Amino acid sequence: MIRHTDVLIIGGGISGLSSAWWLAQKGIRSTILEQSYKTGGLIDTTNQDGYVTDHAAAMVLNFNSLVSKFMTHSGLLDYKINRNKISKRYVLKNSRLQQIPENIRGILFSDLFSLKTRLKLLSEPFRSRSHSDSETVADFIRRRLGQEILDLAIDPYVSAVLACDPEKACARSTLPRLTALEKNFGSFTAGIITKKFIPGKKGLPQEAFSFNGGMKTLTNMLSQNPLTDVHTGQQVLAIEPAKSGWRITSKVNNTEYQYLTKQVIFSTPANVSSSLLKPVKTELAELLDQIEYAPIAQIHMGFDKTGLNNSLDGNGFLVPSREKMAIRGSLWMSNLVNHRAPENKILTSNFVGGGCQINALKSSDDVLIDQTLATLQKLTGIKQSPEMVRINRHHQGLPLYHGKYYQLSKAIESQASESNGLYFVSNFLNGISIRDRIIQSKSVADKVCSNLSAQTHQTESAVSVHAQRVMS
Ligand SMILES: Cc1cc2nc3c(=O)[nH]c(=O)nc-3n(C[C@H](O)[C@H](O)[C@H](O)COP(=O)(O)OP(=O)(O)OC[C@H]3O[C@@H](n4cnc5c(N)ncnc54)[C@H](O)[C@@H]3O)c2cc1C
Repeated sequence: MIRHTDVLIIGGGISGLSSAWWLAQKGIRSTILEQSYKTGGLIDTTNQDGYVTDHAAAMVLNFNSLVSKFMTHSGLLDYKINRNKISKRYVLKNSRLQQIPENIRGILFSDLFSLKTRLKLLSEPFRSRSHSDSETVADFIRRRLGQEILDLAIDPYVSAVLACDPEKACARSTLPRLTALEKNFGSFTAGIITKKFIPGKKGLPQEAFSFNGGMKTLTNMLSQNPLTDVHTGQQVLAIEPAKSGWRITSKVNNTEYQYLTKQVIFSTPANVSSSLLKPVKTELAELLDQIEYAPIAQIHMGFDKTGLNNSLDGNGFLVPSREKMAIRGSLWMSNLVNHRAPENKILTSNFVGGGCQINALKSSDDVLIDQTLATLQKLTGIKQSPEMVRINRHHQGLPLYHGKYYQLSKAIESQASESNGLYFVSNFLNGISIRDRIIQSKSVADKVCSNLSAQTHQTESAVSVHAQRVMS
């Protein structure tokens, strides 16, 4: 049987689900085909004995009004749990955890950074600009802020949170807000001051939040959209041109289904989109093939607070690459977000892998657990063993914005714009965060909507010309 749909979305992760949500706001019905038996993709949550562990994303960091609008109109505000006020955060320096200052003033007076680095920070407005699209994160930060800020502040964020290697990652794609400050205002300092004081330039205050029941609540709620037909357990096998659009072949168990559609949104990892497109858009498929991913694992450990002696007091720590530790960071989730652990217990989510530890996931679960526990014990002084352990492995964790990524992403976008009715909404373009996924899906939904109305207009014009000919 052939099914018809105006818009077909391949992949039911946050990218696909939020695309469908924005389309529904415009009254457009869409169909999502998701190969797994549940929606959410990387996003999922497990509640094990009261420990609520997220498999990938644990929080949304927002400062964008579109995301606020999305939250308000999707009904998700009722489930939102704001992150607790930031308390102590640490970075590893010379094998010891050191508290990170809360603001610029704190940085200038903290002994985390040498006097030379603090003076270099003050001279940041006088550094020269770069005009290269290929400058790495490491070169960009060394040039503007110095080696120590790179090692202790930027490297832990880029290598642990974004999973990229700062020596290889493209600055423009990995740190778009910082590079834009340099480009538009000449320096970070000038940009920050201008944005603070000039009316209309100040963005929303930054907020971080999760959801009651964990991040799975976000994707579950979006899956219930009445204008979206969600089909799980349905893997897309092929796409080919059809008379007025595209023919998609999918499979449920051993039965094949066909869909005819005018607009296709790929919300799948780059390699999946590439293999589907190879027969029809070879050049585009070859570009998609060049996107690399890094593996990441989260090792969640739950501890009884009795006997911890305040060892896990704070939000957690990040590890700079130069410290060469087995884990890249540790978030003390139950301190960050309420209702993540039973009373008197503490949940830590520790991560390994990324572009600087590309082979880390070759180790067995037992090795990863032992290494994580040994690191936590060494750095925080805890003595006891965890009462709960859970591992989530992602062999294709996050896309790497390495090397000529900026040029590659632009080439993919340009080829896609020339492919009638094909779009990409996925974390290998325009940012990995949930916030970026919601923003990118809005812009693609707008394009889909205007293309659909242009097609409807063309069809109506053709029908009216035909009717006039018949009448005359
Ligand atoms: C460990 C980790 C921690 C993270 N933490 C955060 C965080 O705290 N905050 C934050 O904002 N972001 C975080 N992220 C990033 C964020 O979770 C991801 O970028 C985002 O969830 C990716 O969503 P997506 O829809 O683009 O891709 P995916 O979630 O990968 O979805 C792709 C979907 O396509 C489906 N699919 C694949 N092939 C086919 C096919 N042939 N047919 C049909 N369906 C198919 C897959 O099954 C999957 O459901 C984290 C990521 C990781 C790995």
